[in-house]
Amino acid sequence: MRIQILGSAAAEAVPALWCDCECCQYARKHGGKDLRRRCGYSIDDDTLVDFGPDAFWQTVEFGIDLTKTDRVVYTHSHEDHLNPVELEWRGRWFSHVSKQLKLYGPPGVFAKLEKFNLDPAKLSADPIVLSGTETVCDGDLEIIPIVAAHMADELCLNYIFRRGGKSILIANDTGWWKDESWKRVANFKVDAAIIESTFAFFKGNLDYESGHLAAHASVRFRDKLLEAGTIAPDTPVAVNHFSHNGMPFQDKLEEYFSQFGIMVGFDGMVFDL
Ligand SMILES: [Zn+2]
Ligand SMILES: [Zn+2]
Ligand SMILES: [Zn+2]
Repeated sequence: MRIQILGSAAAEAVPALWCDCECCQYARKHGGKDLRRRCGYSIDDDTLVDFGPDAFWQTVEFGIDLTKTDRVVYTHSHEDHLNPVELEWRGRWFSHVSKQLKLYGPPGVFAKLEKFNLDPAKLSADPIVLSGTETVCDGDLEIIPIVAAHMADELCLNYIFRRGGKSILIANDTGWWKDESWKRVANFKVDAAIIESTFAFFKGNLDYESGHLAAHASVRFRDKLLEAGTIAPDTPVAVNHFSHNGMPFQDKLEEYFSQFGIMVGFDGMVFDL
C-alpha cells in the first residue's frame, strides 16, 4: 500500500491567502516544505481521502489521474476537506465521465452536497453513508472508521485503511478521542499512523486538545496509541494538518517532534507499506 500526503495544511493553507503573520511571510519567501496545501491523501491509484479546495493543484503536482479513482473517503464536511465545486465538474454538462465513483463519509458530508444541490446520481457517484461503527470492505480495501471528537454538532471520522495485510491510521481532524474510540482502536494494529497537530505551537499552549491537537497533545495521542497496542515503538508515525496559527515552520516542527521519534508531514510525503 502506498499512501501519499497530498496536503499538510489545515483550512487556510500555508501561506494563508490573506495573512501576513510571520509563518505565512516565511512560507511565501522560502517555499519548499513550508508551502502546505489543504489536507488530503491518496492511497495507491484508486482511493482519495478527502477532496478539498487544492484538489486541482494536488492532481497536477502528484500525478493523480482522477479517471482512475474508485472512491473518495471523506472525514467530515469542513471546507478544507470537502469542496463541492470540484465534484460538480463530474456532471454531464461539463465532463464525459464513464466510471462510477463511490463517495464514503459521515452524514454531514452528504448534507453538505445536498445544500449545494449536488445529487450524487447526477455526478455518476454512489453515496455510502458511514455511522462510524462499521467496517466496510470495498474490493481488497478495508475502511475502518473511528469516531473523532472534532465537531460538537456533526459526526467526524478518522480511518484505518487496510489492504494486502498492511494498514495505516489517518487521524485528522481529531480532537482528543472519547473512550469509545480509544477502545475501538485498541482492536487494531497498524503499520503506520498519521496524527494531526493543527495548532502545533499556537500561543505556547502545546497541550491544547479540544477539536484539534497542539504539539504536545499530538505526542500524548501517539503515546496513547502505543498504550492501546495499535502501534509499536518502531511504527512510523507522522504529524500532519497544520494551521498557520500554530506557526508550523517545518524545521521547528522537526526539531520538536524528532525528540519523540515522530516525523513531520509535508506535501508529497510517501508511506510505502
Ligand atoms: Zn481540517
Ligand atoms: Zn498566517
Ligand atoms: Zn475540520
